[in-house]
Amino acid sequence: MAIRIPPRQLFIDGEWREPVKKHRIPIINPSTEEIIGNIPAATAEDVELAVSAARRALSRNKGRDWASATGAHRAKYLRAIAAKVTERKAELAKLEAIDCGKPLDEAAWDIDDVAGCFEYYADLAEALDAKQKSPVSLPMEAFKCHVLREPIGVVGLITPWNYPLLMATWKVAPALAAGCAAILKPSELASVTCLELAEVCKEVGLPPGVLNILTGYGVEAGAPLACHPDVDKVAFTGSSATGRKIMTAAASVIKPVTLELGGKSPIILFEDFDLDKAAEWTIFGCFWTNGQICSATSRLIVHESIAAEFLDRLVKWIKNIKISDPLEEGCRLGPVVSEGQYEKVMQFITTAKNEGATILCGGVRPQHLKKGFFIEPTVITDVTTSMQIWREEVFGPVLCVKTFSTEDEAIELANDTQYGLGAAVISKDLERCERVTKALQAGIVWVNCSQPCFCQAPWGGNKRSGFGRELGEWGLENYLSLKQVTQYISDEPWGWYQSPSKL
Ligand code: NAD
Repeated sequence: MAIRIPPRQLFIDGEWREPVKKHRIPIINPSTEEIIGNIPAATAEDVELAVSAARRALSRNKGRDWASATGAHRAKYLRAIAAKVTERKAELAKLEAIDCGKPLDEAAWDIDDVAGCFEYYADLAEALDAKQKSPVSLPMEAFKCHVLREPIGVVGLITPWNYPLLMATWKVAPALAAGCAAILKPSELASVTCLELAEVCKEVGLPPGVLNILTGYGVEAGAPLACHPDVDKVAFTGSSATGRKIMTAAASVIKPVTLELGGKSPIILFEDFDLDKAAEWTIFGCFWTNGQICSATSRLIVHESIAAEFLDRLVKWIKNIKISDPLEEGCRLGPVVSEGQYEKVMQFITTAKNEGATILCGGVRPQHLKKGFFIEPTVITDVTTSMQIWREEVFGPVLCVKTFSTEDEAIELANDTQYGLGAAVISKDLERCERVTKALQAGIVWVNCSQPCFCQAPWGGNKRSGFGRELGEWGLENYLSLKQVTQYISDEPWGWYQSPSKL
């Protein structure tokens, strides 16, 4: 039976509101290609309403508004959101799986992470109260100084479709913990669970305007948010191409941005490691979330002495991956998110073939699935460093492989990319792992694993993968502004204009 998703509106000022232009975007189930509902399409007019609502949330009821409330007060709402998310876990996970195609088990893991992230930032919001006035020691006794950490203000949060609710949470939770009011613009390709977050906020009585959620297209809703003069900061996660546009828009009104962008991360496998364990991490590192992970370790750099045997083993593991509708029990690989993404990934594979690479396995739609945007997990060998498949982010279940003979060569291959998000090194020799870790140009390095992510640790990249860090205490800092307060405490006059000067 076809699944239908109940229609929702935009969430502005604590209320559901129809978009001013009344446009809607169809929701397509990537497993069945059926239209299963629709979401509202916001435009600049709705952005205007949401920004005003967020501004009001920071200024109304003097002394009791969101920004000047204690962290402990804000933490209560974050904990209530976490509790509601946990209560609705099964339903939210199912919606996520249907909307973006990720296996249900993964989606359930995401929802746990969402709740965990709200709880974590509730802790940090409480801790913020104690850090509110940090003293600074000065070299002149006549002065005393402290630093206030204040919310930046109204923030625009623009997020992608691969972890719809989790990527939104990575921004919403610290922004709210810091005392900001936010406008979230999730991806037009997967917004269903973000609209459910709006419902959760309503249920827990989050004050109106503190979080506004505008679904819609990037150009129609994201762009006006990014360049809005009354939005104090933009935090963006998405492709490097859009990141460039966001940065340009923010530059026009000199507002800070954090950018979490794409990647083409390497995984280096040395010859001394257990091959089956390495195969599992290699697969998880590249095919988790159907290969649509910014930090996917999609370039395997394997020692030449084990390459043939390892690839043999890898293909055997890959053949055991259950590819199915994400709601089927045991599913480990679902469809990519949309027809556009399916075509893009298939085009990458065709170009690789045309450029002389070999498709070791996959590269096609699974025979048993006639509908849906499914692509078999694909391994590509005989790759050169000038090929598109080596250089560009695919964002699909595609791994490309090169061999190396020396440690230096492996590092050089790993760093041979415009990106700098993640990297993995696999070896029993931990001294070697440490050496290689230091040499890798990446914001995240996994040792003897790939992809595990914890909300306590900083997340973000270098080079074209962006700048700024999310998660951990660094994630909270993104939404705080420092104010220096310096007081003259001497009873003596300052004396600069006395003659002779006392200074
Ligand atoms: P995308 O850049 O197409 O879209 C991201 C968001 O930006 C969407 O909400 C979209 O509507 C909006 N947008 C598009 N054009 C815009 C514009 N002109 N102005 C303002 N907003 C605009 O990215 P995507 O396809 O949704 O996501 C995939 C990309 O995200 C991949 O490159 C992936 O690597 C990256 N990503 C990075 C991280 C990270 O942590 N570094 C995490 C997840 C995804």
